[in-house]
Amino acid sequence: MKQINASIITIGDELLIGQTIDTNSAFIAQELNKIGVWVKRRVAVGDVFEDIWQALDEESRHAEIIIITGGLGPTADDITKPLLCKYFGGKLVVNEKVLAHVKYLFEKVFRRPGPILETNLKQAEVPDICTVLFNPRGTAPGMWFEAPSKSPPKGETSEDSLNTKKIFVSLPGVPHEMKGLMINEVIPRLLKEFTMPAIVHRTAFTAGQGESMIADMLKDFEASLPAHIKLAYLPNYGMVKLRLTATGDKKEKVEKELAPYFENLQTLVKQYLVSNEDEGLESVIGKLLKAKNKTVGTAESCTGGYIAHLITSIPGSSVYYKGSVVSYSNDVKENILGVQPDTIEMKGAVSEETVREMLKGAIKNLDVDYALATSGIMGPDGGTEEKPVGTVWIAAGNKVKIVSLKLNLRFDRQRNIAMTAGAALNFLRKFILENE
Ligand code: AMP
Ligand code: MG
Repeated sequence: MKQINASIITIGDELLIGQTIDTNSAFIAQELNKIGVWVKRRVAVGDVFEDIWQALDEESRHAEIIIITGGLGPTADDITKPLLCKYFGGKLVVNEKVLAHVKYLFEKVFRRPGPILETNLKQAEVPDICTVLFNPRGTAPGMWFEAPSKSPPKGETSEDSLNTKKIFVSLPGVPHEMKGLMINEVIPRLLKEFTMPAIVHRTAFTAGQGESMIADMLKDFEASLPAHIKLAYLPNYGMVKLRLTATGDKKEKVEKELAPYFENLQTLVKQYLVSNEDEGLESVIGKLLKAKNKTVGTAESCTGGYIAHLITSIPGSSVYYKGSVVSYSNDVKENILGVQPDTIEMKGAVSEETVREMLKGAIKNLDVDYALATSGIMGPDGGTEEKPVGTVWIAAGNKVKIVSLKLNLRFDRQRNIAMTAGAALNFLRKFILENE
């Protein structure tokens, strides 16, 4: 079956200078992938007329579907709409439905006093040669254009890049608005427009072993894979995600075909396997606690509430997560968690003894079945000869048992915090599995 290719163009100077991280591309790519569209390229360009124009020309040589985000705001720096109008040879006309919606938003929702600004009303203007994708979440609508194809780039066969028709979709840059339009308008329309091959992903994730060691364990397995099944390694914060991707005609058939390979993969990495879903440790722990009907709490010093944030990012976590003491200062460690002043005096705030007492305090004061505690030096300052930056103590435990773990990290502050959180959650996961 013919592969349907897409390219994503993100527009905005802020993306190029790194002020805004391009999260739109990731979301769009995931959604396209789910319906079997192959994302072949992604480019980011500034709010520059020639650059956007060139990107449209170039990307339409490689893909049948070109998704564009950004540059649809009311301010002068956003030029995508008039540019697209010119590119496809149309003229701007007022869309009554969008106009009514813009008025509704300013009068009833934002309740901005005074008349609506001309620039805001202009949001209701759309090229007369596009299909308007109504955006209930904001003022700028999405726009769907169809155009004849351009010739493929030199050296590339027309087979996969050339189609009789190209679809260009322009979406607002605001992630929340883009997502709504993508799900409710773009995906259903693309499904009508193209017959897609099936792309199926299955992801397992491992913790506690490096990427190259895992790859070594999977050497023969990888060599035995048929051409249409691919294995990818995604290492991150002490974990390695293993993704199998298979392509074919029918989704059910591809899923069935992939299943035994995925089973086999899990068996081979069994001792490091954390989950056979594409999820985070916080989600794995949530499921474990829910199944056991147990609660957990945290006492965080060096991670400053980051572990609490991860745990509470899972919907429904209130069932098993009771709370946290962000005991950043020694005062709070002593007064709220009950760490002995002597312990801190003699052993230091970053020590096995302190982190174990923090844990004890958390179990008692938060009244939980399990707890997790962290204390460390995240850098860039605060290290000593004896305890350099990156020294971290973690404790996990319940009412009867406490285990502790020392880390020696060597990254910058942000990564040290993330690494500590990951290691701590995995430490807790193991503790829960081993101790009822
Ligand atoms: P715009 O449509 O260009 O007015 O963008 C509106 C807002 O969305 C701005 O705050 C941008 O920083 C943000 N934004 C634009 N493009 C992206 C993107 N690719 N990923 C995440 N946010 C974006
Ligand atoms: Mg912009």
